[in-house]
Amino acid sequence: MEIFRDYDLSLHNTFRMKVRCACFVEYDSPDELLSPELETLPKPFKHIGGGANLLFTGDFPGTILHSRINHIKYVDMGLDEVPVIVGAGVVWDEFVEQTCRHGLWGAENLSLIPGEAGAAAVQNIGAYGVEIKDIISGVSCFDNVERKRCKFTAAECGYGYRDSMFKQSGGRYTVLSVLIRLSRKPRPRLEYKGLEGIDASGPMAVRNAVVALRQSKLPDPAETGSVGSYFKNPVVTADVLARVSDAAGGANVPHYILPGGFVKIPAAWLIDSCGLKGSSEGGAAVYERQAVIIINRSGDATPSDILRLEKRVTDTVFSRYGIALEREVEYV
Ligand SMILES: Cc1cc2nc3c(=O)[nH]c(=O)nc-3n(C[C@H](O)[C@H](O)[C@H](O)COP(=O)(O)OP(=O)(O)OC[C@H]3O[C@@H](n4cnc5c(N)ncnc54)[C@H](O)[C@@H]3O)c2cc1C
Repeated sequence: MEIFRDYDLSLHNTFRMKVRCACFVEYDSPDELLSPELETLPKPFKHIGGGANLLFTGDFPGTILHSRINHIKYVDMGLDEVPVIVGAGVVWDEFVEQTCRHGLWGAENLSLIPGEAGAAAVQNIGAYGVEIKDIISGVSCFDNVERKRCKFTAAECGYGYRDSMFKQSGGRYTVLSVLIRLSRKPRPRLEYKGLEGIDASGPMAVRNAVVALRQSKLPDPAETGSVGSYFKNPVVTADVLARVSDAAGGANVPHYILPGGFVKIPAAWLIDSCGLKGSSEGGAAVYERQAVIIINRSGDATPSDILRLEKRVTDTVFSRYGIALEREVEYV
């Protein structure tokens, strides 16, 4: 375990906010979470992965924890369904790349999503018609209240759209590793727009197509700070959908039909149709190529630039359509 005081977090959040924390801890094994030394460190505690879904709204007065549990264990490569245990600190896309190289199906649509495996299981990451919940068998955790290790089946993780029991628990559980179930048998998932008709001869071919699509649409975190989608896609009733269409002058509003009479409207469309693409506050801007993304355009944007832009977007969308956009990003 390594402990750093008064630590710069700018390389630990993909928005590239220049903020600091009182203390930063990198730990290498679950047992270190029981170390008495941790108890002496400044509170509150917050666990992070790659900081790809976080907005630090200022310096953090407590202790940031980060896992270096970095193993990938293939439990039995001889089976059709291959169980793999992936440590919480493994960079998610390195895991996906490795499993595709081994010819294993299941994770390829989730290629190039920034962040680490532990957070992927907390966030229920999703892309191109697949969510991580579809391939999770179980999650191994440390319970910060009972101070002991525990395990959850996928059903017990309470997964929903970018949501889980872990997110709702207020940081009670630290994810140690995730049990993923992959398949030797081909099972491409190509229903999603953009993937129809691609080369699906193996998981690596599908991964390559997903990577190319993502690179054409999303900012590269190495070059431009962002957290990907800043807002969630609102889920509304058919009546609200009709009201949105009226407010947009009878426009054909894109939407996905959900069970129970609900529809999901892309937040990007709502924002774009309000003419907000490219609008900016200080160094922050609404991304020109995808309006659901707020970027650190100047590289020097401050948390308050981002917050002012967020407010402008939510106020404008609300006054035009009566829809309150919800954040996908988490404030710290
Ligand atoms: C360019 C870009 C594109 C993106 N595209 C997508 C996409 O297609 N789909 C998608 O779903 N997301 C996407 N995201 C969002 C982001 O990649 C995911 O939310 C990702 O899971 C965040 O991982 P992280 O390791 O950075 O977690 P962090 O942002 O560091 O943390 C996220 C949450 O998980 C908690 N956490 C982290 N590690 C642990 C742990 N070990 N135990 C318990 N809790 C923990 C944190 O406390 C926090 O609440 C994108 C982000 C960017 C920057």
